[in-house]
Amino acid sequence: MSNLWYPFTAMQEWSQTSQISIEGGQGNYLLASNGKHYLDGVSSLWTNVHGHNHPVLNAAIKNQVDRISHSTLLGLTNPLAEDLAKRLVEITPQGLNHVFYSDSGSTAVEIALKQAFQYWQLTGKPEKTRLVHLDEAYHGDTLGAVAVGGIDIFHEIFGPLLIPTDSIPCPNSFHRDRSANQEQAETQSLESLQQLLKESASKIAALIMEPLVQGAGGILTHTPRYLSQLAALCKEFDILLILDEVATGFGRTGTLFAAEQAQVNPDFMCLAKGITGGYLPLAATLSTSRIYEAFLAPREDGKTFFHGHTYTGNALACAVAIANLELFEQESTISKLPPKIAYLRGRLETLRKNPNVGDIRQCGLMVGIEIVERENASAYPTKSFIGDKICQAVRAHGVILRNLSDVIVLMPPLSIELPEIALMVDAVQSGIEEVCR
Ligand code: PMP
Repeated sequence: MSNLWYPFTAMQEWSQTSQISIEGGQGNYLLASNGKHYLDGVSSLWTNVHGHNHPVLNAAIKNQVDRISHSTLLGLTNPLAEDLAKRLVEITPQGLNHVFYSDSGSTAVEIALKQAFQYWQLTGKPEKTRLVHLDEAYHGDTLGAVAVGGIDIFHEIFGPLLIPTDSIPCPNSFHRDRSANQEQAETQSLESLQQLLKESASKIAALIMEPLVQGAGGILTHTPRYLSQLAALCKEFDILLILDEVATGFGRTGTLFAAEQAQVNPDFMCLAKGITGGYLPLAATLSTSRIYEAFLAPREDGKTFFHGHTYTGNALACAVAIANLELFEQESTISKLPPKIAYLRGRLETLRKNPNVGDIRQCGLMVGIEIVERENASAYPTKSFIGDKICQAVRAHGVILRNLSDVIVLMPPLSIELPEIALMVDAVQSGIEEVCR
């Protein structure tokens, strides 16, 4: 019997089935103890960027480990944390000048929520306390992040523990109302936001959202136009905008950050996952000088942001994050994406004809394939676990994928090559045919 309790896992079933154990990695592949290698089709939970076992990233950690692996940022500084902060400010949207580190997407979100709340406490508007989020949002598993989440299967049970929040409709209506087109769904969401802000802006501190792609909600995409109009409404009503780029950041949508595609300059940006190229846990919450300066005061004024995680600014994580950013430059990672994205789009077109495919949503190298019943194109009963079964079947074709309910997710490392894209899509095609026929 294993002593390990696995994340997001129904343990009874898990402990009764045999599992693939990963012992190594090379490039875009995972090497398993069963001797097989598998294409890492979801970048080890959306983290890997330049491939596994990358010599440059390996060297960055090896060099650093001989100096020091960790020292605290509480009362001390270190050159790597400083250097990385400077680089992050340079590459993120204009105005984000300050970097607060932590170690996961969830903590990056908690920090943004708390800083946004405290900002209004410090600037004479203490009644601005409420947080707004999108339906079907996912911002992490800690309680503050769950409070701004909107995925019932993950979040509903914790309802009694959560701070009250406001939500607006998801701008992608596939799960709600398939008769609405994208433009109608976006308009409905924006009108709902406008109404909420007209009524309650004086009580609202911030809005948090995943730009362009609501990932864990099922790769629910929206247009840059929606994002820019949402940002404009936040500005008009003086609501702080928190962009959670934990999943979309570091090239996943085709640009370094999703915000670039809508030319939005948020008040906060949350980064994690791909920041270290998928090597070590590190996160950053960036904020503008407007926010940061509100906390500047003599110590006795009590304006300090009392928050800090033990491993904040960890030297190994910062060293590999810096090397990862340098790789983006050296390997021209972003400019190599358009042909990959276009090729993936082309391959997915064939899949669209499959009667079990209800929708395919793609933004850059983020893809969600919606599985439906072939007879009437309606959703499978929840307990059929059709997505799980397809991902299991896909493994026999040498590809590791992970579904979100009935959505098959493809999110390969940015280093994926065209033949590997073909392998991945063909494996999905076969998996769907084997399970659904
Ligand atoms: N925000 C978004 C958009 C995410 O996709 C995730 C994780 N999938 C998180 C936050 C939480 O990140 P972590 O699991 O590192 O806490």
